[in-house]
Amino acid sequence: MSSLQNTKQITLCERVTMQGVGVHSGKPVSMTIHPGDVNTGIVFLRTDPVTGREFEVPANYKTVLDTRLCTTIGVAGRGMVATIEHLMAAFFGYGIDNAIVELDSNEVPVMDGSSRQFLDAFDQAGLKQQSALRRYLKILKPVRVESGESFGELLPYAGRRFEVEISFDCPTIGTQSFRDEMSPAIFREHISRARTFGFMRDVKTLWANNLALGSSLDNSVVIDDDDSIVNPEGLRYEEEFVRHKTLDAVGDLALAGFQIEGIYKSYRGGHTLNFKVLEALFADDSAWEITDSEVRVIREPGRASYANAAISPVFGPEVS
Ligand SMILES: [Zn+2]
Repeated sequence: MSSLQNTKQITLCERVTMQGVGVHSGKPVSMTIHPGDVNTGIVFLRTDPVTGREFEVPANYKTVLDTRLCTTIGVAGRGMVATIEHLMAAFFGYGIDNAIVELDSNEVPVMDGSSRQFLDAFDQAGLKQQSALRRYLKILKPVRVESGESFGELLPYAGRRFEVEISFDCPTIGTQSFRDEMSPAIFREHISRARTFGFMRDVKTLWANNLALGSSLDNSVVIDDDDSIVNPEGLRYEEEFVRHKTLDAVGDLALAGFQIEGIYKSYRGGHTLNFKVLEALFADDSAWEITDSEVRVIREPGRASYANAAISPVFGPEVS
């Protein structure tokens, strides 16, 4: 018996708009999150106010173009949307299944470098249950990807759990771990406020290469060459670094397109490893099945891929 709550799919009651800058482009961006119909998932709608062109890209591991600095999805030859991971973490951490994210630039605003302001926006819009039951991607057997000392692993488990460990040479971070169930309450309380972080020496290199142009102490925890934390306000959580890595993992695994029923374990991981674990999972047709929240099997292992069906229906934004 699954310990996951029987629930209907959830979307926003009304649309909500946020303004910010892209952390990599440094460009201003306006983002409006609209309610989505059942089984829509999370779909990005990129509009171009100058050309009037627009295109849609579903948030799914199949639309991932790049995972090096952030998670970027897109449609080859048409365009892309970068830095989706903290917003995706907010949707899936908070239990939102369906939404259309309209953007007038090619990067999700970084806000304060965590998921907190996205959650505040969701609270402002309000959440509502929809007519259909939520669907889960149930892990049926272990799937593991290793890269040097790092690994990421999905394991069967009657619930939804994250076990993330990081280890850095720098004493300010050192070895930290987070191990817990991932309910909306736990996400909100223990994960959602953890900010992205970086080292001053790396930030300088990124700036010299025209990257991380929007990054500042307003949206990143920065560690100086003498191992001190540059931000005058200090940390938001005792182990903010591993909590942010957990936030990233929640956001990256959301690209499965469904809430995952299982444990995700990660050691010294990152966006690339998280993505490779999803690729390895979907490459093995017997490793997963889709059930609804009454534990009725919708897609059995070994059957034709459900993931194709999951990304094909794309709905336009609500214009009301
Ligand atoms: Zn991050």
